[in-house]
Amino acid sequence: RFLSFEGIDGSGKSTQARHLAEALRAAGHEVVLTREPGGSAGAEEIRRLVLEGDPARWSAETEALLFTAARRDHLERTIRPALARGAVVICDRFADSTRVYQGVTRGDLRALVDALHDLAIGVEPDLTLLIDIDPAEGLGRARARAGTEQRFEDMGLAMQERMRAAFLEIAAAAPGRFRVIDGAGQPDVVAARVRSALAADWR
Ligand code: C5P
Repeated sequence: RFLSFEGIDGSGKSTQARHLAEALRAAGHEVVLTREPGGSAGAEEIRRLVLEGDPARWSAETEALLFTAARRDHLERTIRPALARGAVVICDRFADSTRVYQGVTRGDLRALVDALHDLAIGVEPDLTLLIDIDPAEGLGRARARAGTEQRFEDMGLAMQERMRAAFLEIAAAAPGRFRVIDGAGQPDVVAARVRSALAADWR
């Protein structure tokens, strides 16, 4: 099975992906916990290209191509082999992040992002857990973490609001694939919400 976690910066999705990986391993599953951008040697190189250095050196369109190239490599080298041997793959961000980040933050590139996805990727996770958080809270968490790679938190609250709305819109359009999880509160409280959201699906 192929699961992804999505959410705006500071939503806590990476923590939740780790929690779920541990819970499933404890239950005896082989779990491959991976992340985007990155998740394979080549895709990690592309991660550096897009997240380090001056982001303005890439046009929005080139950036969408780079994210798609990274995903293709990740799919070929990490995700497909893991699924083929029966592992559970948990991916911290997948194509929905590109639909949101590259699709709406630097102009409306949603049609291009969808076309690139159809051309080069063509698969979706079986289930996507969208960790939904109040944008002000997410911003506070992301700033507290003060990571060097967080590119969008400093675009401010209005951008976080737009990205949250874009994630919720994508989720509403694919209700069979998405579970929207309330991300407010302590990590173990959110983890319990994730497990109960999965209980119905996990057989
Ligand atoms: O999920 P994580 O915090 O590792 O993401 C690292 C950075 O990459 C974040 O600033 C995020 O906003 C950005 N990102 C992006 N486009 C994506 C995925 C992540 O700009 N498709």
